[in-house]
Amino acid sequence: MNIPEENLAPSSLATTPEAVRELNGRLEKLPAAERLAWAAEQFGAGAAIGTSFQGAGIVALHLVAQRKLSLGAFTLDTGLLFPETLALQAELEARLGIRVESLRPDYSLAEQGKLFGEKLWERDPDLCCELRKVQPLQDKLETLDCWITGVRREQAATRTDAGILELNKTPSGRWLWKLNPLADWTREQVWAHIRAHGLPYNPLHDQGYRSIGCRTCTRAVGEGGDERAGRWTGFGKKECGIHTFLQKQ
Ligand code: SF4
Repeated sequence: MNIPEENLAPSSLATTPEAVRELNGRLEKLPAAERLAWAAEQFGAGAAIGTSFQGAGIVALHLVAQRKLSLGAFTLDTGLLFPETLALQAELEARLGIRVESLRPDYSLAEQGKLFGEKLWERDPDLCCELRKVQPLQDKLETLDCWITGVRREQAATRTDAGILELNKTPSGRWLWKLNPLADWTREQVWAHIRAHGLPYNPLHDQGYRSIGCRTCTRAVGEGGDERAGRWTGFGKKECGIHTFLQKQ
């Protein structure tokens, strides 16, 4: 993609491919907490962690709370989350002294049923994810300069090339930085951090759920293999679309 050199992101960071590569190289050498501190300094309230309260998200929220960084946090509440996930959100907010904004879809489940038919996720999960996850996220990202994620490279074949810092364009044409501060962490590192600090986690992980999304589209898979294998069984779908709609530089 050809990006004009004079086109600057809202934070005034240079957006040439060379500048982004150089910045990414510097951030690769820093520990995750320093990467988050960099984002807080660079973007302030214009940066926020998007989390579904899985391992990496819990670690990121903990590092932010530990260092009292002025970063926001949000989650996509589709209306179909497991009760365990909602309970974990409340527990983390209380324990870490943070607030995680819940982003909700335009349509309630009843409205979606009337407009698109009942149990859309059983017939067209792409459309269901678009309505319940992608659109609320797109609206939120249009208000941010930097989206901080819990993406890790070893999570799935679709994520192996994730950079620590990436530059994207939103559908409206705005620059948006994406920071994946734990991209190079292994699953073992994430869980070692959670155990070492006695952090709360989703009890479904102890029941064989490795990647946890909506209760309608997630099943237990046990150990081994692709961490996201238990999502959208039978559909050949591996991503809900929230990490694929941006135009990567
Ligand atoms: S994960 Fe399933 S229920 Fe949740 S938004 Fe996507 S298709 Fe719909």
